[in-house]
Amino acid sequence: MDDAQLLRYSRHILLDELGIEGQQALLASHALVIGAGGLGSPVALYLGSAGVGHITLVDHDTVDATNLQRQIAHNLARVGQLKAESARAAIEAINPDVRVTTVTQRADAALLNTLVAQADVVLDCTDNFATRHAINRACVAHKKPLVSGAAIRMDGQLSVFDTRQPGNPCYACVFPEDAPVEEALCATMGVFAPLVGIIGTLQATEALKLLSGLGSRITGQMLMIDGRDLAFTPIKLPQNPACTVCGQSH
Ligand SMILES: [Zn+2]
Repeated sequence: MDDAQLLRYSRHILLDELGIEGQQALLASHALVIGAGGLGSPVALYLGSAGVGHITLVDHDTVDATNLQRQIAHNLARVGQLKAESARAAIEAINPDVRVTTVTQRADAALLNTLVAQADVVLDCTDNFATRHAINRACVAHKKPLVSGAAIRMDGQLSVFDTRQPGNPCYACVFPEDAPVEEALCATMGVFAPLVGIIGTLQATEALKLLSGLGSRITGQMLMIDGRDLAFTPIKLPQNPACTVCGQSH
C-alpha cells in the first residue's frame, strides 16, 4: 500500500478485526457482482469504496427513470446508459484505484461458468429464479462462496451459500430447481426503496468479511428481514442430500 492508500483505508486498518492484512486481502481480491440494480448498487458502492481490488459487474439492462427510487449507483444524467457502465462510473468517482470490469450481456450458464471461475466471491443481486439457479450451479461447480440477497415489497432475505465446507447447503437445497415458482418482480410488485439498500449493504458486509478472512456467520442460515416491524429472523438451512446440484448422487 502506498501513502494515499494508507490514508484512504485508515479507518479499516484501525479495526482489530481487519487491520493492514485484511485491507491488503481486499485489495488483492476479485468480486463478481451479478446485477447492478437495487441490490447491486449498494454492493458496488461499498465494495468499491472499501477497496476490493477488482470488481466485475454483470448487467445487460439500461438505467430507467423508474430505477432511480432505489438503485442508488445511478442518477438522472445516466438514464439510458448501461447499468454496468453507470455503476462503474459511480465506483470510479469514489475510488479510482479499483479495477472495474463490465460485462453487458445476459448472465447465462456459459458466461457464468467463465466468470465465477475467476472470482473469489460471487454476489447474486439478480431478480429472477432462472439466473439465480445458473449462478448457484456455477458456484457449486467451482466451489466459490455465494452471497445471495433478495427483496420484494417490504420483505428481504440474505444468505451465504459456501459449499467449500461439506454439509453446507446450496441455493438449490433451499429452492429446488424443479419447484414451481411464482416470479415476484419489483417491476410489478413494488419494493420499499431502503429495503434493497439494507439487503445489498448486508451482502457487501458478508462479502467483505469473506474476502478479508473474517468469514461469514450466516453460512447455513437464511436471515429473513421484515421491513414493516424491522424484524431480523435467522432460519437454519440444512443441506438436502437429494439436491440436484450439490447432493451426494450428483
Ligand atoms: Zn444443494
